[in-house]
Amino acid sequence: MAGKSLVVSMEITVAQREHGCRFNDKHRITKGMRRLTVKKDRDELNYCLPCAQKFLAAGIARLLAVQTEITGQPAHQDTQPKSSNAELSGRAPR
Ligand SMILES: [Zn+2]
Repeated sequence: MAGKSLVVSMEITVAQREHGCRFNDKHRITKGMRRLTVKKDRDELNYCLPCAQKFLAAGIARLLAVQTEITGQPAHQDTQPKSSNAELSGRAPR
């Protein structure tokens, strides 16, 4: 493999049977539902899509923060932090 990615291997898959979300078993993923499958070592962890979106948003924010630390400036100058903050806090469960 050329070059290592820090981002874990993941894909959207379709559940073949009902099971719980890895993050919270009360999040039921029923047969035929789309879910996020994260490949970790030889394990496959399945998350419901609402959890997946939260993880992705947090992961992207973290990657951008590290990139900003390297470059000393935000990657996207045109990004308006206040609008993205409002969006995040509006969706936050607590
Ligand atoms: Zn979930």
